[in-house]
Amino acid sequence: MAKRSIASAEVRGKRVLCRVDFNVPVDGTTITDDTRIRAALPTIEWLQEHGARIVLCSHLGRPKGQVVENLRLARIGDRLSDLLGQPVTNLPVTIGKEAEEAVSRLKDGEILLLENLRFNPGEEANDPEFAAALALLGDIYVNDAFGAAHRAHASTVGVTNYLPSYLGLLMQREIDVLEKVLTAPDLPFAAVIGGAKVSDKIGVLKNLVSKVDALLIGGGMANTFLLAQGKDIGASLVEHDLVDTAREIIDAASDRDLTLMLPTDVVVADDIKARSGTMKSSEDIASDEAIFDIGTESSGAYADLLSRHKTILWNGPLGVAENPAFANGTRAVAEAVAGADAFTVIGGGDSVAAIENLGYADRIDHISTGGGASLEFLEGKILPGIAAIPDAEPAS
Ligand code: ADP
Ligand code: MG
Repeated sequence: MAKRSIASAEVRGKRVLCRVDFNVPVDGTTITDDTRIRAALPTIEWLQEHGARIVLCSHLGRPKGQVVENLRLARIGDRLSDLLGQPVTNLPVTIGKEAEEAVSRLKDGEILLLENLRFNPGEEANDPEFAAALALLGDIYVNDAFGAAHRAHASTVGVTNYLPSYLGLLMQREIDVLEKVLTAPDLPFAAVIGGAKVSDKIGVLKNLVSKVDALLIGGGMANTFLLAQGKDIGASLVEHDLVDTAREIIDAASDRDLTLMLPTDVVVADDIKARSGTMKSSEDIASDEAIFDIGTESSGAYADLLSRHKTILWNGPLGVAENPAFANGTRAVAEAVAGADAFTVIGGGDSVAAIENLGYADRIDHISTGGGASLEFLEGKILPGIAAIPDAEPAS
């Protein structure tokens, strides 16, 4: 069921409390990646064009309910102001009299950014009093924070009990794309799932195995699958308690007759920080060797298969991509995804970082702004921040 979208709301002259995801990576006081701020621009600009009085709120980091000086949002507001070419008022408080007065002074089209939501213990506790205090700062509420949609917090769920509530444009796009991939993908549909652990992605694997035509597995989690196939994986990262789960997924794939690919060759070393590794068949791993990447035969086969699919979903690097010695598999797959004549979607913090570092981001149809949120969505879970928004009225 479609949810109510901000595009259907009358916002002129109204105070619009807009939850955004400005939880950007920071190094000291420097914003190292402003992708999430840019991703929020369409909604903010739409609100401005339609004469709303814009009250933005977000969390940053994990201050655990108290003020942490270097997690203040002011520099994020400054970056937003640079991106928009418009002033943004940074408030040093989140709720209360000072915030209410500042909001009441806003004129149509003006923007104010509240202080870090998580400076208040009520935010993560979804405390009704904190939610009600936030709600005093708006006439309507918009949730555009897809990255926080899997959390039932005061600013994502509680506040919807007090204000007419809508999805923002970024949220709408994330939902539309991920829903299309899960329910009506252009076929054939391939998923590449990598990353460190099977345990992080069991739900996604189980959900996708009933939907895809090809499932390509890499990264540390491939080791548990190789072990389930009876291979010796030496000193590789493995989850012994998930070998049975891996076997179930292998069986489900063979029942459905889909193509399940595991690396036939790999790059091994004795240390994750090694300056170089050795390429080997997955059949010949010695007891003191650990797998840190897929090999060139595997990445070539994955790339070839991907080139013949119409929808590609990628989550999780194929190796320890942060070490250049083990980044080749991830690079080859990134190239294949970027070059494919397919609808391409990437989710997951490390995979998104990989595609951006390689400079292929603009060749991908959709890069999800939600790490945990996109994973939970792909597991088929209902995200609380989305569920809390009322359904759209049927078109008349
Ligand atoms: P994403 O954030 O894209 O969802 P994950 O967080 O699941 O991805 O996985 C990324 C992590 O997986 C990286 O820290 C990477 O070093 C690790 N990783 C990938 N392959 C291996 C491997 N073969 N052995 C150990 N760790 C690995
Ligand atoms: Mg990650």
